[in-house]
Amino acid sequence: MDQSSSYPRAIVHFDGDSFFASVEQAKDYRLRGKPVVTGGERGSVTSLSKEAKMLGAHRGMPMQEIRRVCPSVIVLAGDYTAYSIYAKRMYAIAKTFTTNVEEYSIDECFADITGLNESRGQTYEEIAEAIKEKLELSLGITFGVGLAPSKTLAKVASKRNKPAGFTALPKERIEEVLKDTEIYDVWGLGGAHSAHLRGLGVVTAFDFIQKPAAWLKEHGFTKPVRDTWLELQGYPSLGLSIGAHAKPQSVMVTRTFTPPSMDREYIFSQLSKNVEAACAKVRRAGLKASALSFYLKTQEFTYHGVQLDLLAAYDAPPEILKAIRKHFNEVYAEGILYRASGVTLRCLRGENAVTPDLFGAYAESQEKVGVFRAQDLVNRRYGRNTIYLGSSMQALVRSEASYRKKVSKGFVSASTDGKKSLDIPYLGTAH
Ligand SMILES: [Mg+2]
Repeated sequence: MDQSSSYPRAIVHFDGDSFFASVEQAKDYRLRGKPVVTGGERGSVTSLSKEAKMLGAHRGMPMQEIRRVCPSVIVLAGDYTAYSIYAKRMYAIAKTFTTNVEEYSIDECFADITGLNESRGQTYEEIAEAIKEKLELSLGITFGVGLAPSKTLAKVASKRNKPAGFTALPKERIEEVLKDTEIYDVWGLGGAHSAHLRGLGVVTAFDFIQKPAAWLKEHGFTKPVRDTWLELQGYPSLGLSIGAHAKPQSVMVTRTFTPPSMDREYIFSQLSKNVEAACAKVRRAGLKASALSFYLKTQEFTYHGVQLDLLAAYDAPPEILKAIRKHFNEVYAEGILYRASGVTLRCLRGENAVTPDLFGAYAESQEKVGVFRAQDLVNRRYGRNTIYLGSSMQALVRSEASYRKKVSKGFVSASTDGKKSLDIPYLGTAH
């Protein structure tokens, strides 16, 4: 069936309903059907289940008010490790239909399914609904889904019929739907732009697309607003951002520690933690570093650092930590309070470009790399810091102790810490 006049491009937007609260209910069956809010760790609601919505809770509501207005609501600390695992599952499932998927945010993605109707012998509506069904069955949460000729229209569509709705918005329906869409609700027209438009008498998105191009120019609207104006008319002018971003030149990881410390081993362990994190980033980008710098920042906000060249290029901590250990005293002085540390890995190159050095240091480091790849997999699966180096332990143990203090003091629920224990009974499978 030829749908090219209704959908010159076919873009689908997926938006997880009450995402954080829904993930909490998906991973713990005892929370299903119950009023649940997340955001306990920050003192105000970040996400709420529909049951909590019915009791009068809303986003941004302070937790004290929640306790007063709807005391039966279950307050949870955000478990961002779990949310990002669910987000990755969402992207992976969408990618089983097309590789043209933009990982837009933790609970949203776009898929460009143009042409799939021909290759699959299905309509665009059927394909969008098939992806929606697979996401919902696999993840156990519902999605608002919109199908349209542009990203901006797909966003308009997915907002209609929430929760769990599907809205198809072909070119023929644009006028009808945009008459019913407030200018404030259009993606890309953040506060200032829509306020400006309202001031000029533009109330709905339909009013906006009635304006000629010259009118936009006359009132000083720049390209982003003109792109939105075109998108709303069904002319796709925003592409999907897909795939690997540009390779970094250097990777920097910094940590501030409170309270400040003069403890030599504790400060070294902070650097060790930085090195671990920087190496994980470098490995993820498929790169290796042959130079580095590290610094310590004192309580007086002065910086002390050195720059070092390595014998070979590495993407695992041991050789890098050895080099830092050797030069640590050039940076650290007894009796001074330090409050932050930083490590930058430099001279990054692709793995294939690395020339092994003559002294065998490279070959030796290669044997260890396997261990760190396994660490990456475990940590990506079960949360940062599930496995870490002994030399980083002090840094982690102390920050965990301060976290526990927060837990015992207030609203943070220890069971949803999520760092050390992530109880996800079922994540589904991408077929
Ligand atoms: Mg959402």
